[in-house]
Amino acid sequence: MASPPRRIPGISAARRVDGSFRNLDPDFKRASYGARLRSLILGGTWFLSDYRVKPLPLAHPDVQELRHNSREATVTWIGHSTVLVQLDGVTFLTDPTWAKRSGPFGGLVGARRYTPPPIKLTDLPKIDFVLISHDHYDHLDEPTVERLAKLYNPVFVVPIGIKAWLADRGITNAVELSWGEATTIKGLTIVCTPAQHASGRTLVDQGRRLWASWAVLGSQRFFFGGDTGYTDSFKEIGQVLGPFDLAVLPIGSYTPRLLAKPVHMSPEDALDAWSDLRASRLLGVHWGTFRLARERYDEPPKRLLAEADRRGIDPSAIWVLEPGETEHW
Ligand code: ZN
Ligand code: ZN
Repeated sequence: MASPPRRIPGISAARRVDGSFRNLDPDFKRASYGARLRSLILGGTWFLSDYRVKPLPLAHPDVQELRHNSREATVTWIGHSTVLVQLDGVTFLTDPTWAKRSGPFGGLVGARRYTPPPIKLTDLPKIDFVLISHDHYDHLDEPTVERLAKLYNPVFVVPIGIKAWLADRGITNAVELSWGEATTIKGLTIVCTPAQHASGRTLVDQGRRLWASWAVLGSQRFFFGGDTGYTDSFKEIGQVLGPFDLAVLPIGSYTPRLLAKPVHMSPEDALDAWSDLRASRLLGVHWGTFRLARERYDEPPKRLLAEADRRGIDPSAIWVLEPGETEHW
């Protein structure tokens, strides 16, 4: 059961103009459709770049231990932006996708998954709730959420607009929040926080559903960035809800830079965000799983670790995990 939404002072509210949500930065501007399409075709991102990828080695999660863990805070990277988190005896997933392909028409088109999930959906520990950051295919996968609903009946905690999308698929155990709103599930406070991104699954629903990042507060503090460009919001979130013990932040899909910068952080941006959030540890995700961007598949973690080293950051604070690997935090 989730408590009714309540407002958290100090976190910016979402803004909607003519039915479409907007980012907070008044200067926010995405590259035009034409420029994005040109880049897609000339860059051959979808069709020609298979040589760039190699499946990541998988670790094998200790499922028995996760099932019986009622105390320790853990995080297990499943792949892409999907992490399995345990905090205060509560288990949740972020942006779950077990898809083989990320895209429309039941995955007939779209980005191929080259690193398989390290654990079967049916082998997960009982999932109490699921956080969704936004409606893009690589973050909201229809077959995955349908199967999760049947297997574990978790509460889906989603930004505005996605509750109706879930209801259309028969999933009604959902709570919908806007930026600056919070709910409580099993003693954990979940706050919907801003992100700088976009939404849409077709040409006609662009911006109709909100995008978000999430803070989960219990005996320790957890932050999930979803998909986002670097934004001043990280400072606000860090001030009001931090310091965080763990920040899970996207570090991949930042190329071609000109097009991606407003909506996807580079590894260097992620380190800036991590420091704004006042987080102890950073786990870099959104790489190594789907063939989505122009950068080499293994460049994001290398750049993250190199930049952390250049900045003199304690290397034990910056985590790059194998899919399936569990860390305590
Ligand atoms: Zn996205
Ligand atoms: Zn994404």
